[in-house]
Amino acid sequence: MSQDIPGTAQVDQGLVDMFSRTISYLRLSLTDRCNLKCMYCVTEDERNGCLTKLSQNELLSYEELLRVVKIAVNMGISKLRLTGGEPLVRKNVMHFIEQLGSIENLHDIRITTNAVLLEHYAQQLVAAGVKKINISLDTLKPERFTRITGVDCFDKVWRGIEKAQAVGFSTVKLNMVVMRGINDDELVDFARMSQETDLQIRYIEFMPVGASSRWDKNTYMSSDEIKERIAVLGELIPDAGGRADGPASVFKLGEDAQGKLGFISPISHHFCDKCNRLRLTSEGMLRSCLLHDEETDLRSVLRSGGTDAEIRATLLTAIRNKPKGHQMEDRLKESGSDCHGRMSRIGG
Ligand code: SAM
Repeated sequence: MSQDIPGTAQVDQGLVDMFSRTISYLRLSLTDRCNLKCMYCVTEDERNGCLTKLSQNELLSYEELLRVVKIAVNMGISKLRLTGGEPLVRKNVMHFIEQLGSIENLHDIRITTNAVLLEHYAQQLVAAGVKKINISLDTLKPERFTRITGVDCFDKVWRGIEKAQAVGFSTVKLNMVVMRGINDDELVDFARMSQETDLQIRYIEFMPVGASSRWDKNTYMSSDEIKERIAVLGELIPDAGGRADGPASVFKLGEDAQGKLGFISPISHHFCDKCNRLRLTSEGMLRSCLLHDEETDLRSVLRSGGTDAEIRATLLTAIRNKPKGHQMEDRLKESGSDCHGRMSRIGG
């Protein structure tokens, strides 16, 4: 066992933080750019063209990312998710993913995408070794899709989802951010899809992230309320796999359902005690909690000639600083959200 940083251990079993959580999951935001302008990610002004984006030089290069991933995998990271921004808009992204696919001991690469470009990339992603895909979709209504995302491309996204189902990902999950008064009238329609197809539908509680988030207490809906609303379709039967695959609690909606339903409840039933995640933002900051703004600057280490040992030490520092929990419910009661990180650079 090596003990590089007080309070944080890199043990044979992997990376363990101050609260005995094993950190095994790294999420990379490949870019802050996105081909959608979702209402919870950007403000109205930004939607109309005032969006500041990182320059090419501010982003970590693919070489830098590969170096970090190789070191992290050697330290115990076993699961990697590519996100953003929209990961598939970054130039030459497939070449990068293919290189990730050949990293020794990295067998679990996943991606989160809005599916706008998925019809084109789905087959290549599977060939490169990406086994699981999460697709964000907040509505099944094309006009509403345009209102939420700012772009009229529902049909393209739907073709991407169909392609993902056809090319052989081991799981295709659809993530819906539930917003009262905006898309909550579609909860049952999404639930029905989990009965009629083998998709895993996941309801995500709307989080108060980012200065531009439209979050407020009225728009937020808890997982318990969502469950009540879909109860009209049948009984929620806990899935045997349970939480093994991440933060969602997973169910089947009736014995005959082909797919599954998941509930991700970062606010009402947070999963901080089991959180195994570390995030790397698109400009190279390590963030150990989505809902805490504290970050560790890895890019400076990379760009000032940092050795592998220094990169390892920086990863351990970020893990040492991982808070016990986000306490967002209390923070909201006291002062409203004080989490100002932008989802696109953090990697949602
Ligand atoms: N562009 C990709 C996509 O759309 O899947 C990846 C990035 S996006 C920021 C990742 C996920 O974060 C999406 O499912 C999005 O709906 C979710 N998200 C963004 N802001 C959120 C918020 N305030 N609360 C809950 N989920 C949010």
